[in-house]
Amino acid sequence: MEKKITRIGVLTSGGDSPGMNAAIRAVVRTSVYHGIEVFGIMRGYQGLIEDDIYQMESRSVANIIQRGGTILKTARCKEFFEFEGRSKAYANLKKRGINGLVIIGGDGSFRGAVQFGKEFDIPCIGIAGTIDKDILGTDFTIGFDTAVNTAVEAIDKIRDTMDAHDRIFIIEVMGRDAGYIALHSGIATGAENILIPERKTDMDDMIASLLEKERRKKLVNLIVVAEGDDYGGANEVEKTLKEKLPNAEIRVCILGHIQRGGAPSCIDRLIASRMGYHAVESLIVGRHNVFVGIQNNKMHYIPLENAVKSKGKISEEWIKIVKILAS
Ligand code: ADP
Repeated sequence: MEKKITRIGVLTSGGDSPGMNAAIRAVVRTSVYHGIEVFGIMRGYQGLIEDDIYQMESRSVANIIQRGGTILKTARCKEFFEFEGRSKAYANLKKRGINGLVIIGGDGSFRGAVQFGKEFDIPCIGIAGTIDKDILGTDFTIGFDTAVNTAVEAIDKIRDTMDAHDRIFIIEVMGRDAGYIALHSGIATGAENILIPERKTDMDDMIASLLEKERRKKLVNLIVVAEGDDYGGANEVEKTLKEKLPNAEIRVCILGHIQRGGAPSCIDRLIASRMGYHAVESLIVGRHNVFVGIQNNKMHYIPLENAVKSKGKISEEWIKIVKILAS
C-alpha cells in the first residue's frame, strides 16, 4: 500500500532554463489545490543538504510565470554524489515530514534522483528543464523553445549586417551534446550550413561550396554551429576557413548565455504548467521515480533512469531539408 503524499518538496537543479518558474508555480498551486503542503528547496540538492527549505503557498508563486531563471535558484552540488551528502538530504526531508520530491532539471539531476530513490524511501518525480532538449522520451523540455527563439532573433540581426557587407558569418549556439538549438535556429534563419555534434562535419564539402560561391562573387554565407560540434566550435571553423579563403571577410559571433535567460515563450509556459500539474498528480496516484514527458501531445511517464541524453537522434529528413533549402 502506497503511503499518502502529504508534503511535497520542489527544487530546481543543474543548468537553469526559462520556464522553470512556471513549473514551480504549477507544482505549488496543484499541491495547494489538493491540500498538500509544499516546500521550496533552495539551490537544488545543495539546499536540500544544507536544510535551506521553506514552506510555500499559493501567493509565494504569484507573478513569476513570465520570469526567466528560477526563484528557487539552482546549483551543481558535489556533496550529492556522495552517500553522506544524500543521507543529510534525506534527514532534512524526514525532519519536515516531506514524503514526495519534484526535481526540475536535466539528465544529471535525474541521475541524482535515481540514486537517491534507490537508497531512501522518497518518491521522486522529474520535470525536464533544459534548453538543449537532450532527454529521450519527451518531445519538449522546458526552456528549449525560448532558447531557440532567442537564437533566431539574434541571428536575424546578424544576417542583416552579413548581407550588407557580403560576409561569412559563423554563429555558435549552445548545445554541448545535442544539436537541436543549432538545427532549429539554423533552419529558421535560412543558414547555409548547420554543424551539430550528432553528425561528422564535412569541412571539405563546405569549403568546396564556399570556393564556388567566391568564384561567382557571391560570398555571403551563414554557418550555425553548435558549441559541441566535433570540429571544435566556431573558433576552430573560423581558423580553417581563414586559411582556405584568405580573401573572404569572416566574422564569428558566440551567442553564449543570452540563450539561457529571458521571459519564457508561450510554449514553454504551457508545457511547464502542464508538466508541473501532472508531476503532482503522479505523486498522488503513486506513479513514482519517473519523469513527466509529452509525446504526440499526450502525457508519458518515463522511468528516471531512462532519461539518457538523446545523442544521434536527429532525423535524416531535417538534414536533407537543410541541404535542399540552402542551395
Ligand atoms: P543537469 O541536471 O542540468 O544535467 P548536472 O549534470 O550538473 O545538471 O547535475 C546536477 C546535479 O545533480 C549535480 O551537481 C549533482 O548534485 C546531481 N547529480 C548528477 N549526477 C549524479 C549522480 N550520478 N549521483 C548523485 N548526484 C548526481
